[in-house]
Amino acid sequence: MKVVRSTAELREALAGIRRLDATIGFVPTMGYFHDGHLSLMRQAREDCDLVVVSLFVNPSQFGPTEDLDAYPRDEDRDAELAALEGVDILFTPSTDDMYPQGFATHVEVDGALTGVLDGDPERRGPSHFRGVTTIVAKLFNCVQPDVAYFGRKDAQQAVVIERMARDLDFPVEVRVLPTIRDPDGLAMSSRNAYLDPNERERALALSRALSAAERAAAEGERSTDVLVAAVTEELRNAGIDPEYVEARDAEDLSPVAELNGRPVLVAVAARVGRARLIDNVVVTGSDPAELTEG
Ligand code: AMP
Repeated sequence: MKVVRSTAELREALAGIRRLDATIGFVPTMGYFHDGHLSLMRQAREDCDLVVVSLFVNPSQFGPTEDLDAYPRDEDRDAELAALEGVDILFTPSTDDMYPQGFATHVEVDGALTGVLDGDPERRGPSHFRGVTTIVAKLFNCVQPDVAYFGRKDAQQAVVIERMARDLDFPVEVRVLPTIRDPDGLAMSSRNAYLDPNERERALALSRALSAAERAAAEGERSTDVLVAAVTEELRNAGIDPEYVEARDAEDLSPVAELNGRPVLVAVAARVGRARLIDNVVVTGSDPAELTEG
């Protein structure tokens, strides 16, 4: 595996490849790898001739009071893990390389997708997603992948990036893969490193509450208010005051009152200790006729 530290070096490393008819798979990350990241690399390795992983803790997607400086980092370990997955190129640009002096251009997806859930101005705000889409657009231009891999764990981010790629005609297929969880259900996240053992135990309420919502939907509950209330109560019982629990259309993020067979995202964000955690499930709601037919 080659570790490449600048855009110029990356261009050079990819020049020969582009002349061949090889497919490029790309996994953008902020590092501190866990099985969630590795699952994306594995799929890219299976699908594509060449696999590029980027490792860049992108300052422009962190708010002024967020954890940019504390964000966990271990590049040596990340490089070892990526190499074991058969990654060809690990691209770790510097902040100066990504945002040179005078940087003044941004990519912004409309507020219907970026001003809700995490992007609500009362929460992380739409500037978070502006930071995400700007860096991903730049990385797409640097790598020019055929396929790019994202996790369902960050469901809103995936929706926003899919829309950006479609609207701006990036010639890339965006693939969104399932959330990888620890055996007890906790969604893997680099930020789980902030949790002490008691906090980790409390954090299990997120996945437990979402699984209960999934079960209720499968058993015929159609009111998203009821699902959201049940998730909220389960969190409160664990001493967690969620930042939000919301049910929205999984494709356009519009609010949904009743499950109607279309995929609905039930998403939560909550602070547990120092960690701001997010998790979600996608439910459709079975057709009651199917339930009675058994
Ligand atoms: P991050 O390094 O947190 O920016 O994540 C890089 C990529 O890994 C994003 O596409 C995330 O959605 C994905 N990812 C993070 N955690 C998980 C997980 N538990 N399961 C699947 N994908 C994940």
